[in-house]
Amino acid sequence: MRDRITAAVEEMAPSLRRIAEAIFAYNETAFQETRSSGELAGFLEKEGFAVDWGQAGLKTAFVARYGTGRPHIALMGEYDALPEIGHACGHNLIGTISAGAAAALKRSGLEPGRGTVFFVGCPAEEHGGGKMLLARAGVFDDMDAAMLIHPTNISTGFDISYAIKRFFVEFFGVAAHAAAAPYKGVNALDAMIAFWNGISLMRQQMTERTRVHGIIVNGGQSFNTIPDHTKAEMGLRALLMDQVLEMEKKMTAIAEGAALMTGCKFQITESDAQPEVYVNVPIAKALDKNYEAVGEKTSTRTYGQGVGSTDVGIVTQTVPGIHAYIDITQGVKIPTHSPEFARAADSDYGYDAMIRAAKALALTAWDLLSDEALLDEAKTYFRERRREF
Ligand SMILES: [Zn+2]
Ligand SMILES: [Zn+2]
Repeated sequence: MRDRITAAVEEMAPSLRRIAEAIFAYNETAFQETRSSGELAGFLEKEGFAVDWGQAGLKTAFVARYGTGRPHIALMGEYDALPEIGHACGHNLIGTISAGAAAALKRSGLEPGRGTVFFVGCPAEEHGGGKMLLARAGVFDDMDAAMLIHPTNISTGFDISYAIKRFFVEFFGVAAHAAAAPYKGVNALDAMIAFWNGISLMRQQMTERTRVHGIIVNGGQSFNTIPDHTKAEMGLRALLMDQVLEMEKKMTAIAEGAALMTGCKFQITESDAQPEVYVNVPIAKALDKNYEAVGEKTSTRTYGQGVGSTDVGIVTQTVPGIHAYIDITQGVKIPTHSPEFARAADSDYGYDAMIRAAKALALTAWDLLSDEALLDEAKTYFRERRREF
């Protein structure tokens, strides 16, 4: 079966490359990925998968399935581009890797009753947290495992990520003419500056590997009017969501203090929350082994490589799962979200790496479908640290 799987991916390599090139060219941003999702769904339909559209009310979300019985293995796809710089996060490869792996399992003769392979098409990773919406709609509840491989400059089944919470922080004062009657005003910009300085003072007492960052999106309305409304967008990150919740308490106290100092009112609105990726170690190890088997050298994921956040976090907190990586730059440290990385996502090396990733992912899915002990180990590992979000 393992040989049949890698041969099936090899056979599909030219069509998989065409799909990834097409998605690269479509260049569709979050929630607008109509043609990109259509490309992947069309391919899977032709391969004999049943396709359902519109999970969580998202028109570019779809689930394709093949097979019957347990286990249920989800291979996730992303396909959104970034505004201005296009596929600088390489999402044109992510959906194609998972679709190729899913199709390879069917082509290799996955028998009826031996399990079900799902391709979960997830819109809006870059902006909008598509997987959080799908997870809330219960798309992952019935899965036994879920996997995704993201392009970067190393290959590994392991990840380090930040949990993140995003907020709007607003101050409300009273407008007044800044020359004629400033004493009649209550200055919402002063409150914002006091808040900003408070955040900067908090930063020194923050523990390692925590982050706070933001921008002021409204600093006032007119230079000759005492501002009656100001607004900032803030992000709090830490390796665990529990730490983010502690930081949130401090941020709230700082906003309250700034409001008290200036006589303003304040309001904090949460706009997004993504937990950290909970790496399922047994599955991550299985993928690493399969990478080596298909000739892809694996590396250790380290803090020095840079750490961000992903909406795959919620999936790995819902079911046993991994957010893995594939090197598409030949190890050159090109940062994602740069024009150079977009070029790597549309390069010969990138497309060849995509094929190796599809092979390793299909083999890992097969491990989970065929090796009951591995799936049990993954489930036990998952239960040990499961927390609700
Ligand atoms: Zn990105
Ligand atoms: Zn990405």
